[in-house]
Amino acid sequence: MHRREFLHGLAGFTAYGVSPAVRARAHTLKVGVVGGGIVGASIALHLERAGANVTLFEKSGPAKGATQNSFGFLNIFDLNKHYQALRLQSVLAYRDMDAPLQLGITWGGYINWANDSVEGESVRALGATLDGTANAVRILNAKDFFAISPAIAPGPIAAAFFSPLAGHVDPVWVTYRFLDAAKSYGAKSIYPCEVYGLDFRHKQLTAITTSEGKFPVDRLIVAAGVDTPHILSMAGFDLQLRHSPGILAHSVPIPELTKIVYDGPGGMEFKQMANGRIVGTDSLEAPDIPAHSEIRQHRMDFPDAALRAAHGARILKRISTVLPGASSAMLDELTLGFRPMPIDGFPVVGPVPSAPDVYVAVTHSGVTLAPILGRHVSQEVLTDSQIESLAPYRPTRFAGAAPVGAFGSITASLALTA
Ligand SMILES: Cc1cc2nc3c(=O)[nH]c(=O)nc-3n(C[C@H](O)[C@H](O)[C@H](O)COP(=O)(O)OP(=O)(O)OC[C@H]3O[C@@H](n4cnc5c(N)ncnc54)[C@H](O)[C@@H]3O)c2cc1C
Repeated sequence: MHRREFLHGLAGFTAYGVSPAVRARAHTLKVGVVGGGIVGASIALHLERAGANVTLFEKSGPAKGATQNSFGFLNIFDLNKHYQALRLQSVLAYRDMDAPLQLGITWGGYINWANDSVEGESVRALGATLDGTANAVRILNAKDFFAISPAIAPGPIAAAFFSPLAGHVDPVWVTYRFLDAAKSYGAKSIYPCEVYGLDFRHKQLTAITTSEGKFPVDRLIVAAGVDTPHILSMAGFDLQLRHSPGILAHSVPIPELTKIVYDGPGGMEFKQMANGRIVGTDSLEAPDIPAHSEIRQHRMDFPDAALRAAHGARILKRISTVLPGASSAMLDELTLGFRPMPIDGFPVVGPVPSAPDVYVAVTHSGVTLAPILGRHVSQEVLTDSQIESLAPYRPTRFAGAAPVGAFGSITASLALTA
């Protein structure tokens, strides 16, 4: 894209109001952001746009963490109403930012279906929960299914619904768009640059120590994905995340078959990216068998290329049983990623109780939530205010207490992938 077009797009994005008072305050603040994934990039963009002096520190490269291994499904699905509303705000924010920032979002909607009565029950229950909400799902019979989605051979339909509000992105591309926009406003990003120390005078943060030297900062936003607990421990806060590995097969590009994201029978989840690649999985977590015990316990790469290729080929083959047009799609790569998954499944966002100049933003579904976290976090940091939409997600819910969810457990039959 030409620079002039990009700046023109930014002018549209700038339409979001930043009050003169916030801007005046922002100019006086040096804000560090740790993490160049989609969440850190969005926060850096919104902070810099509001006038703060932002430097983003990334230990390897942009989008090299969970973001590059993400399915990139944008959706509001959750049984918790408050969280559903936050997700909705973010999907709507994506709709506003899509054209100005040229994010290239595919707004194709989502179909969830089952072949047997057991899975059908949970698909129906989920559809019913979402019916009448802003998500407005539509129950599908076989005829409707085919009309909306002729590329799919669904088999016998025990239950199915369509949600038009969902979309999908290339999360790496979107991260680069956010970072480019942040830089256009004046933000700096430094990588590779690892943050490995926080300096405090009394309880006030004064600087951070990195592999590239010391940098003075007034506030630090920690959006370091699965490494967030390590950085928060430097601020005296103990945060635990759940280990949550996930694999995705990526095919080589093939001609367009569909724009929809699918949750199919037996844990199958897939989409076709705008560049033609089929991306998907057939299982949300590694099965609980001895061969997978290591991967279920800690972060690691695949032991060998043959295993990687075998998993990838199996997944694509399964997908092609319901997407016949993809039967000749060869595997390009199989990714193994680790979700930054809070213990109770909900975002952890807010000032760290033991060091209020340090602010944490770590979450699963960070691709969906990045725009709204960018907006709300920047406002909270620059105005020392508390936004109601973020109230249930404070790190204080884990301080000194057993980290049991403030909301109970997440029981959505929907993919943890998303
Ligand atoms: C298999 C899979 C499927 C998923 N599917 C979806 C989906 O469909 N929809 C959705 O919304 N979400 C999905 N997610 C979740 C989503 O990808 C993450 O929530 C999101 O990418 C988190 O972004 P982030 O910027 O917080 O973290 P990351 O992308 O992990 O970025 C954190 C960055 O911090 C850097 N870092 C760490 N420590 C330091 C340090 N000390 N100094 C400097 N830099 C540091 C890392 O190098 C990394 O680049 C999925 C995740 C996985 C793994």
